[in-house]
Amino acid sequence: MIPLQRPALHPGLAAQLDRATAGIRAAGPSTASGRAAWRKAARPKAQLRLMLRQMAPGLERCMYCGDNLGTDIDHFEPIAQAPLRTFDWQNHLLACAHCNSNRKRDRFPRDPATGDALLIDPCRDDPADHLLLYLDSGAYDPLTVRGEATIEVFGLNERPELVRGRRLMFAVVKALLLTWQAAEAPAEAEEYAAALHEIHHADVVRSVLGLRRSRPLALAVLGPAVLAALDRLAATDGRFAT
Ligand SMILES: [Zn+2]
Repeated sequence: MIPLQRPALHPGLAAQLDRATAGIRAAGPSTASGRAAWRKAARPKAQLRLMLRQMAPGLERCMYCGDNLGTDIDHFEPIAQAPLRTFDWQNHLLACAHCNSNRKRDRFPRDPATGDALLIDPCRDDPADHLLLYLDSGAYDPLTVRGEATIEVFGLNERPELVRGRRLMFAVVKALLLTWQAAEAPAEAEEYAAALHEIHHADVVRSVLGLRRSRPLALAVLGPAVLAALDRLAATDGRFAT
């Protein structure tokens, strides 16, 4: 999971969403009225999906697992718990079918004392404040209660394809950095930089970049040649500035 920027809505679409919310309020806010209105809202949903695809990590990846194609509009706070947020743009994220339908469903753990959401919202939170990725194993370590809840609900350490995928992606990222450094033609270098920027498991690339905050750690994990390439990439390409 990496932090994402949510753009403002076009006023026309914002007005459509407001009208839909007013309809749910008039019908009596409930899971049934929220879901019924959402099912019928084909046009705004198509526009929302387009915006979410543009802000998703990599090539339209799931905003939770970062691995699969993001196919579903997920209601961060589920319709069953907040029907009046069915059409709230701040409540929409792009998820893969597995994260949405098999993992999260209507689960939305809250802090028992405050009632605040425990799941990490990549548009509001920096996931790195709550989750530490061990690049050598591909496993996440929770730094906070919210990190723990997010790992548990999405199965970030339970799904072998995710853990192994992140570990192998670390090897790919190191190889890509060296190949980028060695590329002679600018167009060739750009292909490798684009691959690093758009590859799935964007959390691995972000964790590698984050290592630069501690030189001894970066040197120990990456080695001098990969670290030199990483430094050069971060200094010359704004997509990797940290
Ligand atoms: Zn997913």
